[in-house]
Amino acid sequence: MKILVTGGAGYVGSHSVRGLCDAGHDVVVFDNLVAGHRGAVDERASFVEGDLGDAELVRSTLANGGFEGVLHFAAFLDVNESVRDPLKYYVNNIVHTVRLLEALRDAGVKRFVFSSTCATYGEPETCPIREDIPQAPINPYGHTKLAMEFAMRDCAQAWGLGGTALRYFNAAGASADARIGEDHDPEIHLIPIVLQVALGQREKVFIFGTDYPTPDGTCIRDYIHVEDLADAHVRAIESQPPGVFRFYNVGTGQGTSVREIIDGAREVTGHAIPADESPRRAGDPPALYADPSKIKRELGWSPKYTNTQDVIRTAWGWHETHPQGYADR
Ligand code: UDP
Repeated sequence: MKILVTGGAGYVGSHSVRGLCDAGHDVVVFDNLVAGHRGAVDERASFVEGDLGDAELVRSTLANGGFEGVLHFAAFLDVNESVRDPLKYYVNNIVHTVRLLEALRDAGVKRFVFSSTCATYGEPETCPIREDIPQAPINPYGHTKLAMEFAMRDCAQAWGLGGTALRYFNAAGASADARIGEDHDPEIHLIPIVLQVALGQREKVFIFGTDYPTPDGTCIRDYIHVEDLADAHVRAIESQPPGVFRFYNVGTGQGTSVREIIDGAREVTGHAIPADESPRRAGDPPALYADPSKIKRELGWSPKYTNTQDVIRTAWGWHETHPQGYADR
């Protein structure tokens, strides 16, 4: 299948591009390289350097490309930034995605897989989270993702878009062969920050909140390996029927606390990894972990990585060999 991948030079995007190429698909990556890295793009894929805000380029790429499907990763993802600058998120994550959907409609492309998020659930009262609990995001980032789920549902009904929203929990880890991995600037995610401490690039990690109503007082998240996320995308696009909107949690089903991540990284790396307790970060729900039974049942997906220690080990494999990220490739 010929597939366009927006944001295919980013973290989850680049692993998914690799998964698509391995499955024999013909892949074109569309990325502006603002957050993505040219070195992350699989050599088997073609590359278009472009911005989703360039509606004409998006339109002509789709109109002339002969694509059967689009995987859409390109988006902003920093919750804190979305609170400070919501319109930046509304423009990129909504306006540009709406323009992309128009281009799909006009080109007759019916398969669309969208990076949604567990942030669309807001602060759920119970875990594990099933897809049918109410979605009530608590920040602009989550609002923009939920808005696009609504748009996909409406387009499925109106003109036969086949769309799948994959609601990611915490993407983590790196490719098992350490060729591609996580490289954000600035880095805001827990595991890479902890590993940067292990590498001596940071003095310590700050634990954001130790008074949560969880067994060890720190936040609990569901760390899903990026290659398992990639596999979910490949299955979603391959199985996508037209005219149907589908939505799935993609997580392991297991919760891991911030302290458990730090302890796990100490074991994996053999480094002390100093940690300081600090106040809660605004907008962090105490616990988020998935009930992934729907995607297991319907797409035959299941995570290869069910142990957080193994996830951290792959991340360490990448960070240790690429301490400066893609600058080291
Ligand atoms: N976190 C932390 N210190 C850090 C970065 C993150 O304690 O330097 C915590 C954060 O509060 C959250 C968890 O680690 O509970 C995962 O955060 P991350 O930003 O990686 O992902 P999120 O859950 O926000 O998508």
